Amino acid sequence: MNVQEKTLQNCRLCKSPRIKFVLKKDNSLIFKCRDCGIVFLGNDLDEKSIKELYKYYSPTGFSNYLSPVTKLRYEKLLDGFEKYRKNNRLIDIGCGAGWFILSASKRDWEAEGIEISDEAIKLVEEKGRRVFKGDIASLDLEKDKYDVAILTELLEHTSNPEGIIRKLSEILRPGGGIYITTPNFNSITRRLLGDRWGIFNKEHFFYLMPRILSSILKKHGFKIKKIRTENLSLIEISRLFKKSESFDIKKSYERQEHVRDLTEKSPFFLSLKRLVNFFLNIFKIGDTIYILAEK
Ligand SMILES: [Zn+2]
Repeated sequence: MNVQEKTLQNCRLCKSPRIKFVLKKDNSLIFKCRDCGIVFLGNDLDEKSIKELYKYYSPTGFSNYLSPVTKLRYEKLLDGFEKYRKNNRLIDIGCGAGWFILSASKRDWEAEGIEISDEAIKLVEEKGRRVFKGDIASLDLEKDKYDVAILTELLEHTSNPEGIIRKLSEILRPGGGIYITTPNFNSITRRLLGDRWGIFNKEHFFYLMPRILSSILKKHGFKIKKIRTENLSLIEISRLFKKSESFDIKKSYERQEHVRDLTEKSPFFLSLKRLVNFFLNIFKIGDTIYILAEK
């Protein structure tokens, strides 16, 4: 661990001092709060070191590639968002290279993004899309305006997920929808892999679970419409049988896309995937939490 780096003495979410050390992986120290139950990164990082983590966005890299599988997923999501269209405003928090807002704008949504990475912002602007720079909690956005807010794999990266949810409860119009995906700390993959779980890394401040995420949303006036936990990463599971290997975000992304592509193309694997997801959802142990809530 960097000598200048301090360790938090209180829970990142509820500020309780009753926290316990869970594990150390590379330079990351993971703690759990005895009061609210959240699992979080105990390293006290400043904003500069956070930004350093997102240097991997580049025009030619994996981060600026829209795979056919992801494109299809975006279209399905957008189909589901049609029922919320009233003011025609959609916002993607942590929009990355901007592929989702580009897909939405092709359906005539007035789609905007929010990003902290300068590299990613450049890629969004190159696509001709509007992007706000910075942390949503401190941005001056119109109140009661947006029909839909989407946060895919974002909340775990932020130091203040509750501040984001609070802000969204202000800027969404009454009846507007919020869609969230985030890794599930209660997943079977994490239980099997322990500290080798690929999600344990310094990019992630929080490790959420369905109960805690739902309660944050409810606290800020959202009604939960759908909640699922799905997906089982075979790549992650396969690490159980390998010697330890350091986490490489680019490699991991490429492998995931490859497996997803193979699954989508085979009727057998597609049926198997549905069956697996059915059970993962029942026991709330899928890799990803999906939530749709309304204001
Ligand atoms: Zn807490």
